[in-house]
This record gives sequence, C-alpha cells and structure tokens, in this order.
Amino acid sequence: MNIIKKLSPNKYNGRNGWKPDMIVCHITEGSYEGAISWLTNPASKASAHFVVAKDGRITQLVELTDGSWCNGTSTDPNSKVYYGKSTLKTVRERKTNANYYTVSIEHEGIWAQSKGKLTDAQLAATIELIKYIRSEVKRIYGIEIPIDREHIVGHYQINPVTKPNCPGSEFQFDAIIAALKGENPTVQQPESKPTLYRVQVGAYSIRANADAQAAKLKSKGYDTYIVIAGGLYKVQVGAYSQKANAEAMANRLKGDGFNCFITTEAGTPAGNATITNPVPILKVGAKVKVKNTATKYSTGQTIPNWVKGNTYTVQQIGDGKVLLKEIVSWVNTSDVEVVG
Ligand SMILES: [Zn+2]
Repeated sequence: MNIIKKLSPNKYNGRNGWKPDMIVCHITEGSYEGAISWLTNPASKASAHFVVAKDGRITQLVELTDGSWCNGTSTDPNSKVYYGKSTLKTVRERKTNANYYTVSIEHEGIWAQSKGKLTDAQLAATIELIKYIRSEVKRIYGIEIPIDREHIVGHYQINPVTKPNCPGSEFQFDAIIAALKGENPTVQQPESKPTLYRVQVGAYSIRANADAQAAKLKSKGYDTYIVIAGGLYKVQVGAYSQKANAEAMANRLKGDGFNCFITTEAGTPAGNATITNPVPILKVGAKVKVKNTATKYSTGQTIPNWVKGNTYTVQQIGDGKVLLKEIVSWVNTSDVEVVG
C-alpha cells in the first residue's frame, strides 16, 4: 500500500489525552484532488486523516497522533452536532469532541450518484488502509481498535443531524468488517430476477455468421445483441418482462422473413456485432438494380429489356414499389435488388 503524505494545517496538535479507537468513514462530495486541496486549505478549517480515491490512491493529510477536523461534536446541548445526538453509545458517554478519539477517512464520491458505494479499487484500498491504521494505533498507543460497527463507523452515526448521508446507505461496511475479520466476502445470494423473454434469431458456431445475421436484422431496423450460450453465438432481439411483448416482436420478425423463437436463456453477453459490410438498405437515394427477372412496372406496363440489369437511384418509396429517378418509373420492390 502506497500512502502519499500531504499534511494539512487543519488539525489539533495531539489528541487532548485521548487514544484513537474509532475509524470514521466519509464521502467527499467531490473529486479526490478537490478534497485534498480543500482539506489542506486553512480557509476550510476542515481535514481528514486520509483521502481514498476511486482508483485506490491514498493521501494522508493528518498524522494519526493528531486529531483531524472531520467529525467534531459539541458539548453544547443546543448544537446540531451535540455529542448527545450521536447514535453511538461511546460518543454519548465520552461527552467530548469526537475528533479527539477518531481517525477519519474521506472517500472520493458523490452521494447523490453512488449513495456512498465504493468502487472495487476503493474498497480494497480502504480495507488495506484500515488494517494499516489498526496496526499503527497498536504500535503507537498499544490498543486494538475493535472490528465492529461501534468502532468502524460512518459520519452519520456521530452527527446524525448534520450528516445523515455521510458516507451513504450503500457504503460497504459489512464487506469491510468481514474482510478485516479475515472472513470470506459474503457470497451474495443472487437476486431473484424476473424472467426475461428474449427473441432469438439464429445460433451459430462461428462468430462471423452471427454478425452477418445481426447485420441483416440491423438493415431491417432491429437492434440486436449477441450472447454466448452452450458454445454458440446467439443473436437476440429484445428482452421483455412480458411474454406477450416478446411474441409481438417474434411476429414482426416472422413478417420480415426471420425464423425466430422465444427463449428465457440469457447467455453471456458477447458484445455488439461487428458489422463490417452492412447490408444496403432500401431508402431514398439508395442504388438499386432492376432484376433481369422483372417483367412489368407496378403500373402494369412491360419493362423493356434495356432497363433490366441496370442500376438506378431510388427517388421515392411507395407501398411495395419504388420510383426510380433515371427512368421516372415505379418498379415493384420485389423486382429490385439494393446494391448500395
Ligand atoms: Zn463526513
């Protein structure tokens, strides 16, 4: 663990006779760099012992032998931060400023975005940091900080009136405590997720074939995704909590000539299809070739041979027919092939 030191002037010299035996977790409501800058600025009159970045970097701002200005309590019963308002018995009983006996850790984050949930790197860094703090406190003061929620706490437990959301409801206290106790992280029971009905349009042993199918679907306006399941690349369109919605999509696909079926199998996402040669779409401006098998215009008149096999530009699209710019004629859609 690499701790960068950048000491802040905002601190008590010493701990007024107290030994630190409580670690308090906070959220910065801003960036790592911003927090370090603010908490070392004399104007802020605030500090913390440590700041942990989302990527796991750690900066120390106050020595463990000094009190930081992070979660002070007041002895004035009229104060919003009166120690008697704390939800922690220890804080209420000590009847003094909690900054004297706490070690504070700020965590980069914005409560409204994460509710205090640490990133994986941040969680790992915080666990290592708390191990370090406990070993240093033992070395310097000869005391063990207990591993429990009365001694590894959130700011909200000390100042519930002014800091109810510090660090936030999603902060991983349980994971931290389990890790410090050397327990395996709690195996999260998978949430019972609602069944999703997925419409599957082909399963392929070769990825490129799945991509080709995805490209065809895309040309018809369908959004697809590819999953791997049972060793096959499966092209799926949509995931619906209502079976009826999946059936509606399946019918639409069948109407466009795609064989499909409904599955509840999720598979492992295999990323977006690589669509290198998108299938040309019939649209205004597209180039189309009149098939040699074409016989009549949509008006019923005979198509002369010189028109067949040549390429024209679509000027307008009608119901089952396209107006070709160069010959100013409506040709049945089934008699043209999109070439670009
Ligand atoms: Zn706080």
